[in-house]
Amino acid sequence: MKKFVYMFNEGNSSMKELLGGKGANLAEMTSIGLPVPFGFTISTESCNAYYDAGKEISPDVQEQILQALARLEQTTGKRLGEPSNPLLVSVRSGAVFSMPGMMDTILNLGMNDETVEGMAKLTKNPRFAYDSYRRFIQMFSDVVLDVDVFFFEQLLEEYREKHGYNSDPELTAEDWQEVIAGYKKIVKDRTRKEFPQEPKEQLFLAINSVFDSWNNQRAIVYRRLNKIPDHLGTAVNIQSMVFGNTGDESGTGVAFTRNPSTGENVLYGEYLINAQGEDVVAGIRTPQPIATLESEMPEVFQQFAETCHLLEQHYQDMQDIEFTVERGKLFILQTRTGKRTAQAAIRIAVEMVEEGIIDKKTALLRVDPEQLNQLLHRRIDESYPRNHLAKGLPASPGAATGAVVFDADEAEQLGNDGKRVILVRPETTPDDIHGIIAAQAVVTSRGGMTSHAAVVARGMGKACICGCEALKIDLKEKQFRIGDTVVNHGDVITIDGATGEIMLGEIPMIEPQLSEEFQLLLAWADEARKLGVRANADNPEDAQKAFEFGAGGIGLCRTEHMFMDAKRVPIVQKMILASNLEEREAALAELLPMQQGDFEGIFEAMQGFPVTIRLLDPPLHEFLPDKEELLVEVTKLQILDPSSAELVEKEQLLKKVRQLDEFNPMLGHRGCRLGMIHPEIYEMQAKAIFYAIAKLADKGLEVKPEIMIPLVGHVNELKEMRQLVIDAALQVQEETGKTFDYLIGTMIEIPRAALTADQIAEEADFFSFGTNDLTQTTFGYSRDDAERKFLQAYIENKVLPENPFAVLDQDGVGKLVETGVKLGRAKKPQLKTGICGEHGGEKSSIEFCYLTGLDYVSCSPYRVPLARLAAAQATIRHEAVERTLQPQI
Ligand code: PEP
Ligand code: MG
Repeated sequence: MKKFVYMFNEGNSSMKELLGGKGANLAEMTSIGLPVPFGFTISTESCNAYYDAGKEISPDVQEQILQALARLEQTTGKRLGEPSNPLLVSVRSGAVFSMPGMMDTILNLGMNDETVEGMAKLTKNPRFAYDSYRRFIQMFSDVVLDVDVFFFEQLLEEYREKHGYNSDPELTAEDWQEVIAGYKKIVKDRTRKEFPQEPKEQLFLAINSVFDSWNNQRAIVYRRLNKIPDHLGTAVNIQSMVFGNTGDESGTGVAFTRNPSTGENVLYGEYLINAQGEDVVAGIRTPQPIATLESEMPEVFQQFAETCHLLEQHYQDMQDIEFTVERGKLFILQTRTGKRTAQAAIRIAVEMVEEGIIDKKTALLRVDPEQLNQLLHRRIDESYPRNHLAKGLPASPGAATGAVVFDADEAEQLGNDGKRVILVRPETTPDDIHGIIAAQAVVTSRGGMTSHAAVVARGMGKACICGCEALKIDLKEKQFRIGDTVVNHGDVITIDGATGEIMLGEIPMIEPQLSEEFQLLLAWADEARKLGVRANADNPEDAQKAFEFGAGGIGLCRTEHMFMDAKRVPIVQKMILASNLEEREAALAELLPMQQGDFEGIFEAMQGFPVTIRLLDPPLHEFLPDKEELLVEVTKLQILDPSSAELVEKEQLLKKVRQLDEFNPMLGHRGCRLGMIHPEIYEMQAKAIFYAIAKLADKGLEVKPEIMIPLVGHVNELKEMRQLVIDAALQVQEETGKTFDYLIGTMIEIPRAALTADQIAEEADFFSFGTNDLTQTTFGYSRDDAERKFLQAYIENKVLPENPFAVLDQDGVGKLVETGVKLGRAKKPQLKTGICGEHGGEKSSIEFCYLTGLDYVSCSPYRVPLARLAAAQATIRHEAVERTLQPQI
């Protein structure tokens, strides 16, 4: 018979796929001798078997569960449902990848009308026993019987009010007994059945519902967001309960072995005395920092600190640990690799290398490149006086400004409309996740550093402040008060997640800087990588940023952006509207020195690194006014001022706009097709490049220009444009007496170019894959239309696995890239190749580029650090692939 159920001492950490992350960890911890409450894990395969059988636990699996239960009873000396010494268990989900708060957990299973009495006697603490029972009824009813917690909370609140209690600890055993009677009535009324008393029935119902929770709405959203496949299934962990709420010698907490926000090597976490696990995570009471445990329970703290050290050494990574102290005895409930901010990830990786725990390659693989974005965000300008309204816990660093909203749905709606909002809530729950995604930041008035809001925000790299108790939120009035200040819905606030400060209004921010550890990690990445990283930059400022972030050159300078400047557009329009070549050349002559200046600035910023300049690409109508707006203006003038000179001018403009109008501009008169029909435009641009080089040569600066012809589909286009550039160089050479060392290449962004890359390579010194257009033309999608109309639905319905404009479609577009490289190199082995579409800054696409043998990737300046790291990771992951990094590619 196939094995579906594993006792904790039968597994280890390598069995994650089968036992889930939590189950494998519990097994591993048991095997290294940590004080883990005993139990067993029902495998992820059982979850899949459950779904395959139409949501039924098969008799085989049932039998194995009962056997495991018997062994658990034997080991603990307790029995499920036995009043004199009852075994109580927790039932938790545990997927292969951690999905915090997304699926359901049930504690205290095994409680019923009889065992509660037994517990009361055994612990000599009837209050605790009844409190546990009512918690169990509430949790079980919510998760398994689908009775909303609202009914229970309402009853409890009414009870407290009626008896003049302010908080739960004031309720006596007798009070809880009355509450329990009320709870059971709620269950009866809502489900038309008694609350199940038979513990084994409770157990199987709970297991079913954990399997069901794999497919609840929030788990599905979380998986989509984190790209976790649906077919993995979840395991279920059944573990004997220990109690943190048996009095003041007990407690429960969550701790990280290092600070998950900054990475500092100190124990970090919090605990609550006389409480159960969910109290800490739910954020209803604000817990104590872990440091106070040292004075409150010195021995327990000592043992805990040693255990943390042992766990870090064992797992060689920062751990997130849940623990419980039951009457002075420490139990470790679970440990897992701790989620952390990018800042912490870098510091921990670098310091663990320095401490000799891991090597540099492991450190490089520890940091998710996508996470680095967080560090390249802006911070509040320190020189600006901060009049903070209130200070909460600094739960996730970063600064944000936005309008206050109190509701996750509204945050989502406004966020999707491009508005900047900050979600302010008493606390958040997994149901708020869509609002958190859309908001700039999250603020809660309750809960600690490990509350839901804090964990989720850190995972997303969003600023977050928790437990800001000074904040009195009135959800009904849609406002919060801090002292005498009232902040209304829609008011703008600024928050600093690194300090916990909340401020009124908008505060200036400053550009990010790379920390020392970050720079060190990137230096290791540069040592390891065998793939060049360049930046896409169109002006000297961006080029400067790219240089600072470590770009080894410019892979794409889009020259059209230089024409969009408000001062230049009129000259560009003059050039377009010219009625003869003379007029056009006059306008071009005006533009030339401006272009030359831009190029000089970029060349200077790049200090001798190669710079790829692309000649004009977009259709000319993009520089003219919108046709419809113009039509309205002309019509108005025809009515109001029919004899005006303005009307004549506008009518002329409209005529030209109509002439240039295209059915399919993306496939129309653009790219090198412009240069073919209006060679004088490309000639001006080429000359501006060479004049700039000549000028810088006088200053002693060496320049490595690579002139790139866009949208080539046939070799003859490139042949002609190449000659045009060579002629321009010769002319400038003659005029200035300088000689030029330059390359001429092309973008490969039309499928025909990739398929005839051998012919094209004869005329090209380099290829740069323009995967934006290559994706458009391979799929036959216009990006703007696709993203506006159907792409989202395609992704949601899994027609496409990802947005192909963000993540390179390796099966289709990738095949064209591979073909292009192969054919091109077959003709010209030294052909330089790179990518400059947006995919050049996306980690899986970068890995693909490495494996395809490209020399470099080029991405926006802010993604350069990410690309350096991703390039290193690709090199490390595929060490068997033989590559050398060409110097200064
Ligand atoms: C491309 O097509 O990939 C590219 C980089 O050019 P653009 O995005 O400017 O069309
Ligand atoms: Mg393009």
